[in-house]
Amino acid sequence: MRVLLLSDIHSNLEALEACLAAAPAYDLVVNLGDVVGYCASPNEVVARSRELGEIFVRGNHDKAVCGLMGLKEFNPVAALAAEWTRAQLIPGNLEWLRSLPQGPIEVDRLPNVQLVHGSPVHEDDYLVTVRDAVEPILLARMPTTFFGHTHVQGTFAANDEYVDAYRPAYETVGQSETVEVPLKEGLRYLVNPGSVGQPRDGDWRAGFAIFDSDARVVTFCRVPYNLKSAQDRILAAKLPLRLATRLAAGR
Ligand code: ZN
Repeated sequence: MRVLLLSDIHSNLEALEACLAAAPAYDLVVNLGDVVGYCASPNEVVARSRELGEIFVRGNHDKAVCGLMGLKEFNPVAALAAEWTRAQLIPGNLEWLRSLPQGPIEVDRLPNVQLVHGSPVHEDDYLVTVRDAVEPILLARMPTTFFGHTHVQGTFAANDEYVDAYRPAYETVGQSETVEVPLKEGLRYLVNPGSVGQPRDGDWRAGFAIFDSDARVVTFCRVPYNLKSAQDRILAAKLPLRLATRLAAGR
């Protein structure tokens, strides 16, 4: 089965549409959370995400926007965007965000795999460094975990002796590109497909991944999208300028 892995779309409709247009054929869509927050198309992105499938875990922005958590832990710009998003969302979409499940979740059609937003240990933890990953990768109930939250594409892999970090090495800065990573037999993995709507690894292109569960290969993808249109919507919504400029920097 080929699984389209989407995470951290953050209301960026242009980036989501570019990913869907570029994605090779897939059988199932998995969404790792933070459907909303930061960018300016929350209702459109929720509607499109709901059309694509039913497998979701909730992100911290999804929780904050629908009132399941406070905004204390958010920086002022993120908090402002969350409040704006709450005011924009139609009641049905707010209700839907409230209903999203907390990770880790397992899916019958994907044996030996679990889905989380942040970490297998806690849904809001960030797994950025190898040190962050050691405990979660060893404690994870499943050998392969798909996660998001950091907006950084890549994997952590572990055997009994070491944990390694890997990030795909792309060759261009503005074209569509893919990098295939076969998952090795006997290793435990944490896999982050990257952020569709607000990448933070210095690459502005929208990120996602395809997981071939039979071949056990993850294909990381980056695609250019209509950045100007996404930025214009942010400015027209009177959201902070920084939310538009950071998209161009991939930070
Ligand atoms: Zn996020």
